[in-house]
Amino acid sequence: MPLITLRQSRRACLADLAFYALAIAGLAAALWLNAAAPSWQPQSAARVLGLFMLGLLLWSLLEYLTHRFVLHGLQPFQRWHALHHALPQAHVGLPTWLSASLFATLVFAPLWLLLGAWLSGLLLLGVLSGYLMYSAIHHAVHQGLAAERAPGDWLARRARWHALHHQGGASRCYGVSSSFWDRALGSHLRARGSAPAGSAPPKPAAPEARHSAAVRQRTDP
Ligand SMILES: [Zn+2]
Ligand SMILES: [Zn+2]
Repeated sequence: MPLITLRQSRRACLADLAFYALAIAGLAAALWLNAAAPSWQPQSAARVLGLFMLGLLLWSLLEYLTHRFVLHGLQPFQRWHALHHALPQAHVGLPTWLSASLFATLVFAPLWLLLGAWLSGLLLLGVLSGYLMYSAIHHAVHQGLAAERAPGDWLARRARWHALHHQGGASRCYGVSSSFWDRALGSHLRARGSAPAGSAPPKPAAPEARHSAAVRQRTDP
């Protein structure tokens, strides 16, 4: 059995969500319990909230950049991500031990070295919360859970946005948990001479496009 398997079972996918929910709760508890320690400077509620929100924003940027420039721009990640586009309803993703290791080494360790325990802990809390939100949305969208929502519902709108990504060569709408960076950087538009992302999508031709259309139809008003 290979050490890294991108195709996960449904149980492993749900266990991943549970792991990150517990990790977030544990980190929040650790920050709360240590907030009174003399070595940790007193922080105002506004600063705590601001750093958490900054962590959420940082995650949304990481999500966007990774999806656009790594998963759709760099081999072998591009080839691995193609498996998700070919089998959108399968549970394709990093195993929990690997994603947690990447967060620890590429996100938390540099933040810790730069900012110290308190600030890096709060930023990480926001980053992990953003990641959990992204994972839950992506799971819900591809497992048809968004279809049960009203068309104008926030999750239904996220489903439509992500369906646009899966269509037309996956050249737009890279954000899953947010459309902020797509709109800020112009990638909500088609690659060349095309209509905005909100306009009617083309007829699906490939299996993944057919799936995307199914998601779209379930979420269209
Ligand atoms: Zn997807
Ligand atoms: Zn993609």
